[in-house]
Amino acid sequence: MYSLKDILGMAKELSSEIIEWRRRIHMYPELGYQEYDTSKFIAEHLREWGYDVRTGIAETGVVGILYGSSGESQSKTIALRADMDALPIEELNEKPYKSRIRGVMHACGHDAHVAMLLGAAKILVSIREELGGNVKLIFQPAEEGGNGALKMIEEGVLENPKVDLIYGIHVWSSLPSGIVALKEGPLLAAVGEFKISVKGRGGHGAYPHSTIDPIVISANIIQSIQTIVSRNIDPIEPAVVSVGYIHAGKAFNIIPEQAELGGTYRYLNEKIGAIIRDRLKEIVSNTCKAYGAQCSINVEDKSPPLINDRQAVDFARKTIGEMLGEEKVIEAKPSMGGEDYAFYTQKVPGAFIILGTGNPEKGTDKPHHSPYFDVDEDVLYIGTAIHAALAYSYLSRREK
Ligand SMILES: [Zn+2]
Ligand SMILES: [Zn+2]
Repeated sequence: MYSLKDILGMAKELSSEIIEWRRRIHMYPELGYQEYDTSKFIAEHLREWGYDVRTGIAETGVVGILYGSSGESQSKTIALRADMDALPIEELNEKPYKSRIRGVMHACGHDAHVAMLLGAAKILVSIREELGGNVKLIFQPAEEGGNGALKMIEEGVLENPKVDLIYGIHVWSSLPSGIVALKEGPLLAAVGEFKISVKGRGGHGAYPHSTIDPIVISANIIQSIQTIVSRNIDPIEPAVVSVGYIHAGKAFNIIPEQAELGGTYRYLNEKIGAIIRDRLKEIVSNTCKAYGAQCSINVEDKSPPLINDRQAVDFARKTIGEMLGEEKVIEAKPSMGGEDYAFYTQKVPGAFIILGTGNPEKGTDKPHHSPYFDVDEDVLYIGTAIHAALAYSYLSRREK
């Protein structure tokens, strides 16, 4: 029998090894669905430690299963997830472990996620005889816009053995190092994308009366869709509609034939998503009709809102609070960022945990996706401890 403080101690002892793994992955970042070296690195370690390892799931995904001592079929299974992909960003940090791959960088902390989960994998093997169920480690590709989670689920990652509970951790640079944030219910937003094409009639800039100007029509569409959030949605409900690009025209004296624009919408509540999608289509089609243009709009939900299960959050709060001290666990603020982890919690109860890695003195408080992003490596062992403690608490027969 181990206490949660024992688990924390084991993680702390692994700290330098976890940092070494993180740096190795940081130096050789790979984009979504191309994480071949990263997944090979993970699979080699898991095999060495005795995990049942499955590779090539959703292209580069890796799953490691540790069967508990009570027999694999009827026992409970907890899943722990890390994402592996990097971003198309040129790193501007001057650190010994700076990215060796031009134009590719771990600027979201997924390198830290892999290293933290590997640390937990090593601890869980060493306390295997205390586990009355299975641990399934999920290393997924392509979180950054590639919906790797969805592909992993489609390829059966939540079955065989069936996952009963899932946790994932994201490091967070705007939260002070070592602070853990949790929240039941919606934590991150659904991500939607819209693409609009406005086909008018081009001509001379001096003779606008003989044209149908797609730029003026686009300007009207942009103004009008801003009223979706301000005029159609209950002000108490979070929602965003942002236009991210508009492409039209080439010369000062030509009215172009066509304009293309697009952007993203976000929401936490599905009813709000339906309003946004409907209003986008209505506004585009009616604005175009009013000006005599031909328009098309494509509206697509990319990932659902990330909803944390109440019991999973309560269990995490209790476990992490006991291990780190209750003062380290705070209430997370929901944000309109998205995470494909949402696909897992759509299928099985679970929670997404935010771990602060922001330390201004070490310069690790830079925004995610910035070329100066970095993590406070001295807290990575805490992430490892959280993963291991959740699995141990859930599967062990210790007093709860
Ligand atoms: Zn990211
Ligand atoms: Zn991320």
